[in-house]
Amino acid sequence: MTSTSTDFDAEVVVIGAGVVGLAVAARLARDRSVLVLERHEGIARETSSHNSGVVHAGIYYETGSLKHRLCLEGNSALKAWCDDRGVPLARTGKLIVALAEEERDGLDAVYRQATANDVPGIERISRAAARELEPAVPIVEAILSPSTGVVDAFAYARSFEAEAHAQGALFAYRHELRGVERMPGGFVLHAVDLDGAEATLRCAALVNAAGLRAHEVAALLGYPLDGGTCEAGADTVEVPMLRQRINVGRYYDIVNTSVARSVTRPIYPLPDHRAGGLGLHLTVDTEGGAHLGPSMEWVEGEFALDYRNDDTWRDAFLQAGRRFLPALASDDLAPGQVGYRPKLQRPDEGLVDFLIWHDRGYVHLGGIESPGLTASIPLAREVAEGLR
Ligand SMILES: Cc1cc2nc3c(=O)[nH]c(=O)nc-3n(C[C@H](O)[C@H](O)[C@H](O)COP(=O)(O)OP(=O)(O)OC[C@H]3O[C@@H](n4cnc5c(N)ncnc54)[C@H](O)[C@@H]3O)c2cc1C
Repeated sequence: MTSTSTDFDAEVVVIGAGVVGLAVAARLARDRSVLVLERHEGIARETSSHNSGVVHAGIYYETGSLKHRLCLEGNSALKAWCDDRGVPLARTGKLIVALAEEERDGLDAVYRQATANDVPGIERISRAAARELEPAVPIVEAILSPSTGVVDAFAYARSFEAEAHAQGALFAYRHELRGVERMPGGFVLHAVDLDGAEATLRCAALVNAAGLRAHEVAALLGYPLDGGTCEAGADTVEVPMLRQRINVGRYYDIVNTSVARSVTRPIYPLPDHRAGGLGLHLTVDTEGGAHLGPSMEWVEGEFALDYRNDDTWRDAFLQAGRRFLPALASDDLAPGQVGYRPKLQRPDEGLVDFLIWHDRGYVHLGGIESPGLTASIPLAREVAEGLR
């Protein structure tokens, strides 16, 4: 039996109402019926609201990689979107700093990559010029990235939800996807709501924007998570590595407002890609707050999301923070947010690219860690183009 569009509850179901799933829904709803399935009570309860909110410029990533291309494109697309919709955005620029003489060589490597990546306006600046920009920080030398900014990540996600609604997309919050079967021309989805009620849905295309659980959703379709092949009728499908590892990033807030206001833009140390991030940095937000973080810590085996933070890491953050702000006092800090990075990278491996994988109406978005917030609009475009 062949299916017709009337067999479907929606042409496309998007799993996950994080910033990426919402951007995808807003894009696809222009010319298709779209339904977003989200296990929480509302949008952006996970990674999309627990991050640095930095609008990255495309500095660090391998030239030509998705992270590079989509970050560069996403930087200007995000700014234009925020300007149009009144989403809080600060055009702060950013400094990557050497805080000791021996770190200058590390700056060379970052600058070479940024130049190869055609990052707009990227500039190496002297100690004097850097200290004029950020007098509170004992900078030895720096790279200035004028196109970096800071966005209110939750408001940005909400603007996609509003756009998707306006385009006619439907939202099923409090519904977790628990099972998927392929049917002729599409998929049958089994979801359970927070009260335990079961629901079944049919769709022609399925977009997996489940963030930290993207590989669990792929497992529901029977894909081998460590890559390999699977049968598709008479054909064989090559499956990439889908299994994600999780790396936790904690923040501490600078609660002394005069200290917080002594910095005006994100200030990053040299990156430590193998440890799982860009290095514990100093960020500002769109409301004048300042934060230290995120730390980098691999999670082994099973994990439960726990967004609480406490005093356990105060001394470690104080030491790290004093490299940027030597007069920082313990009382200037309070435990801040916690974020979880979904990574295709293994501990001690270098950067691994985003994964956008299409298989017969299924789209898998894997390893959507930083700069996924920045790249959300072009990620959505890639998904839409692949579904044409
Ligand atoms: C510490 C940290 C700092 C970061 N800093 C930056 C930054 O400065 N700039 C930047 O560009 N990026 C940054 N990022 C990356 C950015 O936050 C993410 O790339 C982005 O938020 C990913 O969005 P998402 O929609 O893919 O995932 P998520 O926001 O995690 O959304 C996935 C959604 O899927 C839902 N879901 C999962 N499974 C199911 C299921 N079975 N059924 C129904 N729903 C399901 C979840 O509940 C969740 O709401 C950072 C990330 C971290 C962790």
